[in-house]
Amino acid sequence: MMELRYDTFYIGGTWVRPATDRVITPVNASTEEPLGQVPEGSEADIDAAVAAARQAFDDPSGWASWEPARRAEVMDRLADAIDRRADGFVERVSAQNGMPVAVARQLEIGYPTAVLRYYAGLAREAVFDETRAGLFGGSIEVRRVPAGVVAAIVPWNFPQALSMFKIAPAMASGCTLVIKPSPETVLDAYLLAEAIEEAGVPAGVVNIVPAGREVGAYLVAHPDVDKVAFTGSTAAGRIIGETCGRLLRPVTLELGGKSAAIVLDDAELNLAEIGEGLFGSTLLNNGQTCFLGTRVLAPRSRYTEVVDAFTALAGSLTVGDAGDPATQIGPMATARQRDRVETYIAKGRGEGARLTLGGGRPAGLDRGWFVEPTIFADVDNSSVIAQEEIFGPVLSLIPYDDVDDAVRIANDSDFGLGGTVWTSNPERGAAVAHRVRTGTIGVNRYIPDPAAPFGGVKASGLGRELGPEGLAAYQQIQTVYR
Ligand code: NAD
Repeated sequence: MMELRYDTFYIGGTWVRPATDRVITPVNASTEEPLGQVPEGSEADIDAAVAAARQAFDDPSGWASWEPARRAEVMDRLADAIDRRADGFVERVSAQNGMPVAVARQLEIGYPTAVLRYYAGLAREAVFDETRAGLFGGSIEVRRVPAGVVAAIVPWNFPQALSMFKIAPAMASGCTLVIKPSPETVLDAYLLAEAIEEAGVPAGVVNIVPAGREVGAYLVAHPDVDKVAFTGSTAAGRIIGETCGRLLRPVTLELGGKSAAIVLDDAELNLAEIGEGLFGSTLLNNGQTCFLGTRVLAPRSRYTEVVDAFTALAGSLTVGDAGDPATQIGPMATARQRDRVETYIAKGRGEGARLTLGGGRPAGLDRGWFVEPTIFADVDNSSVIAQEEIFGPVLSLIPYDDVDDAVRIANDSDFGLGGTVWTSNPERGAAVAHRVRTGTIGVNRYIPDPAAPFGGVKASGLGRELGPEGLAAYQQIQTVYR
């Protein structure tokens, strides 16, 4: 990929010089080669971006006052402008964070534009104002008004999809935004800014300032921000939640996970049939996906068979340069992330778990932050590798006695974001799914659907994105007694 250089931010519908000369230099995760350079946002740049978003929001005849259907037209145009840049998005995301291009095409292009078009549809159809009869006479108008200026903070693992989880409902409701991408994934954010400009999104509705965590914290606490939407680690989520609590500022937090993939004793473990679904729900994006079922719960009666199936599945994956269309597992996004994964693998060995696959660095890949797909069997659910989020291609296989035991183990976690149940009896699977304390769970499949609320319970977060519920998160309610 050609080196890309940018020297401005997209603020207020135009390209603005940064306030400082600090820069971010993204690196190719597969080759460790520099990919280019962009300015690093400072507090002064955030001030400028928030001011632009504030002005656009407060304009009495501006974006927030438009008929939702008019905003929807802009959103559809933006989806088209993104589609026209599909190859660029795939190439940039994949180079920066190591996501295999085949995954990036589906989840960083097809998925975000589907979310955008879904919310454009919702803007056209949703009821924003309703009138009720009052219990004490008169009528009551209930107005769903836009929440205001949104601070959207996104991580590097699905930079476009997770940005769009925020941009689309915010635009549909009439909010304006300041987006702070993660320093690891900035080049795709510039492509998004170009699409926003080309689509004729009114000035100041979407502003983008890549920056680090201190500047992110500054944005969260900015006095002119009305709502915060964050996706990232539980550690950062707690800090952001504290700030928003102090400010009484609405906040949506999508945080980490350690979900359970429960294999029931009647599951058909035919990898030709369910291998893709198992892969997508346990190892997708090199294990750098928040909802993955990284604790695989297997019945003792079929334990060896389940261990063999997962070992065969993970062992069959093509590991390589994320830019190669044949690659199924690419590198970790950063050297720091690989260190973290390797530290957990060492902990797993130290805790006495049995390694059936991987555990090291793949042979023949001397550059890039690669880790072998790794399977630990005989894992105790109370061990560190079963309790903490690893965020790499590492699965822990845990035996259970009966369904009650499986549910107990699944719920014995600080997290509650995703999960799956694998069974030949979907009704039985759904009954087990209903007993798991988690925000989302699938029976024999898992893919967050744009029309369905997505989010976690416990340490996995607060609030929901996607679906009509995700629109409500960008609205305030005003009641008028008439
Ligand atoms: P991170 O929390 O370190 O960073 C995420 C983003 O928040 C980055 O843009 C970062 O600059 C910013 N940030 C960090 N601390 C901040 C603070 N105090 N105030 C404001 N901004 C701050 O996480 P990461 O390493 O980039 O991403 C990996 C984590 O994200 C994993 O734990 C993963 O599970 C989680 N994640 C969750 C979801 C979800 O939907 N639940 C999705 C993807 C990733």
